[in-house]
Amino acid sequence: MADRYAVIGNPVAHSKSPQIHAEFARATGEQLEYGRIEAPLEGFEHTLAQFRDAGGKGLNVTVPFKEAAFRYCSELSARARAAQVVNTLVFSGARVFGDTTDGVGLVRDLERNVGETLAAKALLLMGAGGAARGVLPALLEAGVGRVVIANRTLARAETLAQRYGVIACAYGALEGHAFDIVINATSAGLANEAPPLPASVLRPGALAYDMLYGGDTPFLATARNAGMRTSDGLGMLVEQAAESFFVWRGVRPETRPVLEYLRGR
Ligand code: NDP
Repeated sequence: MADRYAVIGNPVAHSKSPQIHAEFARATGEQLEYGRIEAPLEGFEHTLAQFRDAGGKGLNVTVPFKEAAFRYCSELSARARAAQVVNTLVFSGARVFGDTTDGVGLVRDLERNVGETLAAKALLLMGAGGAARGVLPALLEAGVGRVVIANRTLARAETLAQRYGVIACAYGALEGHAFDIVINATSAGLANEAPPLPASVLRPGALAYDMLYGGDTPFLATARNAGMRTSDGLGMLVEQAAESFFVWRGVRPETRPVLEYLRGR
């Protein structure tokens, strides 16, 4: 019987992960099934236990369970310990290993697919939720220079910034500041909104990256009008999936063909 994996979240119906992992399995010849599990908001651990009892080998974890997954693990990778969120679970007997692949996924997408150099760049990270926490250690490890974190609730940005020795800032106080890369790690786009970023921050030639995928967001549209280069988060999704696949199977699938397939090229 093929090994079983799935993505667990709420909501999860929109997830492209089953499609991505099916492509990876086909391309690498790995025998696996990958499904979708919607867990009740109060029932993450129970749903997860059912999947393990049925012989499930591993899960990807998405909104809103990444912190709960972190707490559930008996062992953690160094990068999961740093980010304090888990998006990849590996089950083996009583052992539950947790990893986080969002950060490496974002860095690989920026460097390989978008073609951006990160070393010494001035970077603005918008948001201080699970996604921002998950990617910040990997961005710092990739050698970015000045990092500023902006968030609607400033206290959350300050807590995150303090942990990594970077700067926290209210959106309004960014007026006149220049960045090479502006990353939207907020969920504002889900409500068809953009973070309240002063227009002067959007500079021609700089890169605007929105972690959301599946359509243009108000942030990307405004950035493009200001002359910025833009990218959505589809490449990050594929790259983090490839890293999870590697954690589970020890095989690293090629990402470019899957990304092109998803973009319809
Ligand atoms: P969280 O719910 O943990 O955090 C949401 C963040 O967005 C908070 O910082 C919140 O600010 C901010 N926010 C929400 N609405 C607004 C708004 N209208 N204006 C300004 N800020 C706002 O979500 P996650 O961090 O887990 O996810 C964030 C996004 O990243 C999601 O859209 C998710 O789909 C995407 N993502 C994409 C991935 C990929 O592979 N491409 C991987 C992981 C995430 P406050 O603290 O003030 O509430």
